Amino acid sequence: KPRVFSGIQPTSDSFHLGNYLGALRQWVAMQDSTDALYCVVDLHAITVDHDPKVLHERSRVSAAQLLALGLDPERCTLFVQSQVPEHAMLAWILGSETGMGEASRMTQYKDKSAKQERTTVGLFTYPILMAADILLYQTDQVPVGEDQRQHLELSRDLAGRFNTTYGRTFVVPEPYIVKETATIKDLSEPEKKMSKSSASPRGCLYLLDEPNQMRKKIKSAVTDSGGDVRYDTEAKAGVSNLLNIYAALADTTVEKLEGEYAGKGYGDFKGDLADVVAETLAPIAARTKEFLADKAELDRVLTAGAEKARGLAVRTIAKAYKKVGFFPPV
Ligand code: ATP
Ligand code: MG
Repeated sequence: KPRVFSGIQPTSDSFHLGNYLGALRQWVAMQDSTDALYCVVDLHAITVDHDPKVLHERSRVSAAQLLALGLDPERCTLFVQSQVPEHAMLAWILGSETGMGEASRMTQYKDKSAKQERTTVGLFTYPILMAADILLYQTDQVPVGEDQRQHLELSRDLAGRFNTTYGRTFVVPEPYIVKETATIKDLSEPEKKMSKSSASPRGCLYLLDEPNQMRKKIKSAVTDSGGDVRYDTEAKAGVSNLLNIYAALADTTVEKLEGEYAGKGYGDFKGDLADVVAETLAPIAARTKEFLADKAELDRVLTAGAEKARGLAVRTIAKAYKKVGFFPPV
């Protein structure tokens, strides 16, 4: 079975529809056909401002949501990054293989640092830690959204370079990106991606929103002055985004939806979409609450996952340490 690894940041109280359609839905689907490890990447989350108590609780809420979405600790390895210290160890080694120029080309850093008053070195080296996350597990495939493609490319470059310099050490990973849902856009600013840390709560559909809130956000989603439900990402970015969401959730195609809504207005279309979204997400919110009800049990599940992950991580660290000339960790 191919090895799969992917991570998500505990940077908000809830994941959003972009996370779900761009990545998490694939995580659940890949559980049985692959040997999958999924990680709540809290090390990444401290690269922007954070409150320790809030971060700790968000990591739990994140894990509970992943379980609620259908990740099964019997069929995949689910863990929190900070419980496996090897991530940081490998990141240090890979940082010394990364050129300043190549790190400086990362567009996520440019976007995120522009929005912050104070930018940290951690935010700058984030893609190197991400490469470590992936290479640590000899990963074949990484299910992510389109925004992570450039970081994946860096992971591939670093794996290839290390292998060339020191001899075969890492599997070179491939991105796994589903085209139709690769970038879900913000509902109120359809030129931007939907994002946990963006300041547009009205444009972000959270998995844990109340159905009424979801309905309101969809009703007020930006469309255009024309009235026809037609896919055109240039002229009708808002409507096209809603069509993509609808098609993905209802397991149909954009073409079929265009046919169904020919001659009908945005009102009907948005109303039906709101029903589909609420039907899909309401059970997830309910199940998340159930998993959060017993925090001790949740923490046990996560620690067991971390132990499994660590068993694999130490093997890669042993190899990499030897290759670069370090003493073995004791
Ligand atoms: P942040 O704003 O804190 O970076 P985020 O919403 O970008 O949060 P991440 O935790 O960085 O979420 O990413 C988790 C996964 O969700 C990644 O695989 C990422 O590519 C994917 N993803 C994030 N936003 C979208 C989106 N709008 N459309 C599709 N996939 C997305
Ligand atoms: Mg992100």
